[in-house]
Amino acid sequence: MLSAARSSVFMSMLDILQNWPRTRLEDLYGVVTPEQVDSALSRDYRTIQDLIALLSPQAVPFLEAMAREAHRITLRQFGRTISLYAPIYLSNVCAANCVYCGFSACADTTQPRVTLSEDAIAAECEALAGMGYKSVLLLTGDAPAIASPQYIARACAIARHWFSSVGVEVYSMEEEDYTLLCRNGLDGVTLYMETYDEATYAAMHRTGRKKNYLYRLSTLDRAGKAGVRRLSTGILLGLYDWRIDAVWLALHMQHLQKQCWQSALSISFPRLRHVPGGFAVPTPVSDAELAQMMVALRLMFPEAGFNLSTREPSYLRDRLVPLGVTHMSAGSSTRPGGYARPEDHHLAQFEIEDTRSPAEVVKMISRAGYDPVWKDFDQAFFES
Ligand code: SF4
Repeated sequence: MLSAARSSVFMSMLDILQNWPRTRLEDLYGVVTPEQVDSALSRDYRTIQDLIALLSPQAVPFLEAMAREAHRITLRQFGRTISLYAPIYLSNVCAANCVYCGFSACADTTQPRVTLSEDAIAAECEALAGMGYKSVLLLTGDAPAIASPQYIARACAIARHWFSSVGVEVYSMEEEDYTLLCRNGLDGVTLYMETYDEATYAAMHRTGRKKNYLYRLSTLDRAGKAGVRRLSTGILLGLYDWRIDAVWLALHMQHLQKQCWQSALSISFPRLRHVPGGFAVPTPVSDAELAQMMVALRLMFPEAGFNLSTREPSYLRDRLVPLGVTHMSAGSSTRPGGYARPEDHHLAQFEIEDTRSPAEVVKMISRAGYDPVWKDFDQAFFES
């Protein structure tokens, strides 16, 4: 089954990465001048070389001007709105061993691992919907023997009863699995490549299906082919040199724009912060670097949604709102049953940084001059 990953569409993405090896990117970074940054900033349409200029250390003195332009573009494309969503963890069982993750099969923990029953999923949905959410992201580990595509499809159908928009962030699937999920109410797939550097990917993902770099690289192609309306991707910031990975991410976005032109694309900015003991984040990304990456990618992809989760601390989320963010999670729990039965203390994937309630986040968004939006209006448009 996994050999299907080597389809012609997929190979073209691999070809793209092979055309842009690290050495080529380093050479381009090495010759960026302030004039090139200025020129990249003033264009309407930007190339990969422009993006490299904007991501480079030479662009740091231009950050304020870049932030103003990112703000202007975001207002033009999205208006003064921030859409709210929250995750529901369906299961914390995982057969993979990703060294940075609290759900890893090798995690040193005594906290219970569970997979929610249909009744428990409904209870989570009811609790979250009661907070006002209309948009939800369903998550599992990588354990299809426990949380099968059929189980996830059933969870989508249950969630659809409560939410106008249902996305999943689960393991890589086949096209027919995504078709099944779509038939059960799915409209979004989030899947991070984590890092595009194949050697680092192999070192970070030691066992399990997720270890298959090539299969993961082609996942969003399959989801787009199956008709998934919203595709979200990103890199796990901290695994590899962010300036290199961000360019590969942009190349992937361009690839998806061509291959999955019927899907809306968005980028997430997950930053590795709390990791299991014994693992040190290889290349930590500072607040300023995260902001630079966000505004540079906003200038490159004016129409892409930008998601910012509660992994980031409240002070930083507040500051990043005007720089291109379009979707924010709030009041999140990263443990199964975390909304309806928080007293159960099932194993959580990671500690969230922004622990404010949804009401507090809504207040912050309003204070910043934006309208918090609970409903995914695109969904209503597609259904009309
Ligand atoms: S990142 Fe995903 S696949 Fe890897 S250990 Fe965590 S839950 Fe499992």
